[in-house]
Amino acid sequence: MEVEKNLQTNKSKRVKTDYDIIIIGAGAAGLLAAHFCSKIPNKKILLLDHNKQVGRKILISGGGRCNFTNIYSSPDFFYSSNPHFCKSALSRYTPWDFLDLIQEHKIEYYEKKLGQLFCKNSAKDIVSMLLKLIDKNNVDLKLEIKNLEVSYKDETFVTYNDEYQFSSSELIIATGGLSVPPIGATGFGHQIAKQFGHKIIPATPALVPFKVSGFETLKGISLVAKLSCNEHSITEDLLFTHKGISGPAVLKISLYWNPADQIQIDWLPELNIVSEIEKAPNKTLLKTSLKRHLPNNFVDHILEKIGIDGDLFCSKITKKELSQIEKYLHHSIIVPSGTEGFRKAEVTRGGIDTFEVSSKTMQSNYQKGLYFIGEVLDVTGQLGGHNFQWAWASAFAVSQALQNQGILKK
Ligand SMILES: Cc1cc2nc3c(=O)[nH]c(=O)nc-3n(C[C@H](O)[C@H](O)[C@H](O)COP(=O)(O)OP(=O)(O)OC[C@H]3O[C@@H](n4cnc5c(N)ncnc54)[C@H](O)[C@@H]3O)c2cc1C
Repeated sequence: MEVEKNLQTNKSKRVKTDYDIIIIGAGAAGLLAAHFCSKIPNKKILLLDHNKQVGRKILISGGGRCNFTNIYSSPDFFYSSNPHFCKSALSRYTPWDFLDLIQEHKIEYYEKKLGQLFCKNSAKDIVSMLLKLIDKNNVDLKLEIKNLEVSYKDETFVTYNDEYQFSSSELIIATGGLSVPPIGATGFGHQIAKQFGHKIIPATPALVPFKVSGFETLKGISLVAKLSCNEHSITEDLLFTHKGISGPAVLKISLYWNPADQIQIDWLPELNIVSEIEKAPNKTLLKTSLKRHLPNNFVDHILEKIGIDGDLFCSKITKKELSQIEKYLHHSIIVPSGTEGFRKAEVTRGGIDTFEVSSKTMQSNYQKGLYFIGEVLDVTGQLGGHNFQWAWASAFAVSQALQNQGILKK
C-alpha cells in the first residue's frame, strides 16, 4: 500500500506521540467533539488542524456574527442521499442544548428571523467559547500540521507527516467540506474515507449564487421572489449581482438545483398582477401600476423584455398583453449557466455516503475506530443555522458513542 510505504520512509526523523483519540479538523465539529471527548476520564486527545487558527469558517460565518443554530432545526431542513441519517444525532443534541452553552458563557445573541440565532457582537465569541470548553489537561491542540496522511495497522491509526507521527486507537475526521478553499477547505476527509473503502456522493457547491446572463443592468436591486426547483419552493429576498442572482431565496433553492435544471420564478408572489391591472383606476399607466409593487428599474427591464409600452393606460391593455405580463411576472423560467462555485458556496452538497456510516455513532461501517462528523458527510443543512447545528449534533453523537462504548480498551 502506497501509504504504508510513505510511513516507512522518514520514520526515524519523526516526533512520535501516542494518543487515545485523534481529531483531525479544528472547525465547528472538531472543536466541540474535542470538548465532549475531553470529559471522558483519563484519555489523551489530540486535535489537529493545518490552519494557523482554529474555526476559520465560524469566524466568517453569518457575516461575522455566526448564525450558530436555528431553534426550528429538524431533519426537514437537511438534504442527503440518505435523509434518515441525520435524525438520530439531531434528536440527541438539539438547538436548545447548544443554546445552554451560549447562555452559560454569557454570549449575547438575538433571533434575526425564522428561528436563526446570531451572536450580537461577533462570531469570535463562539470560537473563544469552544476553545475555553476544551479541557487543556486532556487535549493537545496542534495547529499548522500540514500534509497529513493516515495509515492503519495492528488496531492503531497512525496520522503522520514528515515531522510528526501520532498514533491512536480512535480517529475522528472533522475536516469539513470543499467550500472556500482560501481559508483551508480541502478534500482530505473524502480522501481518507475513500482510502478506507467508502463511497463519496459527488460534491457540488450549495447555498451559492447562480450565474445568469441578462440581468446585468439590475445589479444591486433586490425584491421578494418565489423560486421553485425540483419540487421545492422558497419565497424570500433575491438580489441581482453582476454575475446573476443571489440572496437568501437563491442560496436556499441552490440546495436542490443540478446543472441544466430550470428555475421557475414568480417575481410577485403575494399578488395577482392581472387583477391589479384590471382594477387600476382610469388613466393609470401600466408602468405606474407595476412600479407600485416592483422596483422601478426592474419594471423598465421587464417591459423592454416583453416589448410592451409602459406608457399605455392599464384600461387599454389587451388580453394577449395581459397574459404576456402574467406569464413573465408569475411564471418566468431561467436556466443558470452554473453557480459561483466552491469559492462562494457556504457549503458542500454531497460527501461521504452516509449509508456506510452508523447514524448512532458516526463510525465507519468498514473500519472500526474511524469516525466522520460535520460537513465531510453527505448531510447538508439549509441556510439559516442548520449546518452548524449538524456540526454540533454529530460531534455530540461521536463523543457519546466513545463514552458509552468504553472504547478505550488499553
Ligand atoms: C461564508 C460562510 C458562511 C457560513 N455561515 C453559516 C452560518 O451562519 N450558519 C451555519 O449554520 N453555517 C454556516 N456556514 C456553514 C458552516 O460554516 C459549515 O457547515 C461548518 O463550519 C462545518 O463544520 P465542520 O467542522 O464540519 O467543518 P469546518 O468548520 O469547515 O472545519 C474543518 C476544519 O478542518 C480543517 N482541515 C481541512 N482540511 C484539512 C487537512 N487536510 N488537514 C488538517 N486540517 C484540515 C480546516 O482548516 C478546518 O479548520 C457558512 C459557511 C461559509 C463558507
